[in-house]
Amino acid sequence: MTLNWDDLAAETVHHLQALIRIPTVNPPGNEKPAAEYLAEVLVTEGYDPVVLESAPGRGNVIARYRGSGEAPPLLLLSHLDVVPVESEKWARDPFGGEMVDGYIWGRGALDMKFATAMQLETMLLLARQKLPLKRDVIFVATADEEADGLYGIGYLVDHHLEKIRAEYALTEFGGFPISLGGKRIYLCQVAEKGICWVRMRARGTPGHGSVPHADNAVVKLAEAVAKLGRATLPFHATDAVAGMVEGMAVALGGLRGAIWRGVLNPALSPFILRWVIRDPRQAHYFHALLHNTVSPTVLQAGSKTNVIPSEAEAELDGRILPGQSLDSFLAEVRSVVGDHFEFEPIIVAPPVATDYRTPLFAAMAEGLRRHDPETVAVVPMMVTSGTDAKHLARAGIPCYGFTPVQLPPEMNFMQMIHGHNERIPVDGLAFGVRVLYEVVVEFCQK
Ligand SMILES: [Zn+2]
Repeated sequence: MTLNWDDLAAETVHHLQALIRIPTVNPPGNEKPAAEYLAEVLVTEGYDPVVLESAPGRGNVIARYRGSGEAPPLLLLSHLDVVPVESEKWARDPFGGEMVDGYIWGRGALDMKFATAMQLETMLLLARQKLPLKRDVIFVATADEEADGLYGIGYLVDHHLEKIRAEYALTEFGGFPISLGGKRIYLCQVAEKGICWVRMRARGTPGHGSVPHADNAVVKLAEAVAKLGRATLPFHATDAVAGMVEGMAVALGGLRGAIWRGVLNPALSPFILRWVIRDPRQAHYFHALLHNTVSPTVLQAGSKTNVIPSEAEAELDGRILPGQSLDSFLAEVRSVVGDHFEFEPIIVAPPVATDYRTPLFAAMAEGLRRHDPETVAVVPMMVTSGTDAKHLARAGIPCYGFTPVQLPPEMNFMQMIHGHNERIPVDGLAFGVRVLYEVVVEFCQK
């Protein structure tokens, strides 16, 4: 049966609009109605989905397309919750799912209900085509990614792992284009930094504020915080970022490519980031991909103006690269502030990295190239924040960020998510539906 991709894109748009119109702002989430909507659609195509509630109202839906079992399953994962909105700053209703001038508007249009709709469409097509596959394809749409995933994929990993176990998962972020030196490059997430949130404590001698002395905990802490703010922790080139820079260098070509490669040279890197990347936000982002970072974010000390307190605390948002640990991070922090501080972990989550030299990554790159002939390169990417990939890593399921979408050059995917006026071009979504379906079929037939 030949597929009518225009009709299939229209069907995907319809499901995306329906999902946007089901409010799932987290907190509180309340994803169950969205999970039930998906389950109803899946049932009409012969699936036998389950909706699992991790807590009242927190719905997670799972469905499975059966392959022959000759190879392990592929997991299509998305999250149903969205971040809050400031409605008055939007030009359209954030929960209207309106189609205006070729765009679908609404919270979740990019993060990431469009991907839920595309993954759903892939499942519907598999069922209609009755394609023989060697792998099962598991569809999972979860609650709670925008918090810490504990009511979503974290819950499924802890309580229903047998339902979701797979060789690979495809989820956010990736499959979207950026423009680099006028060349179109698609990024696919293969790695994310780890989290090391720690409390740094200074101790000193208490006393009356009218008699200053040198052992003031507030002053010691303030000096350490200022040092951390000015410091650059050591340079580390990881495999994922080396692949990212090399892919970009090849795409740029010539002298520009050769200069760009210098980002991986610790001696040249700061100069290239400062002088070659003109956009400071991008320079900061690349800097964060090449170093463990630390941002002091919360300060606490004292309770009365005339009392010198005996201790002062700062909360540090530390982010570590693949290959690093809490211990190696704290060693770097101590080399800046000295040994006179106590450190107490608040939240620690390891970094995640998946090898990108795999048949699945090659299929993803090939799918993007096939349908966007202007693609110059498809390169691996690391993100500085955490995603649900952390929970899957606990279960030993490697992850790629791959929710393909075509965007006009002026639209920056990573800047548009969580912002005002989130929207997705319908033709970009139509592109994504086709690429995703073909990649899934190609990978699962081999
Ligand atoms: Zn997301």
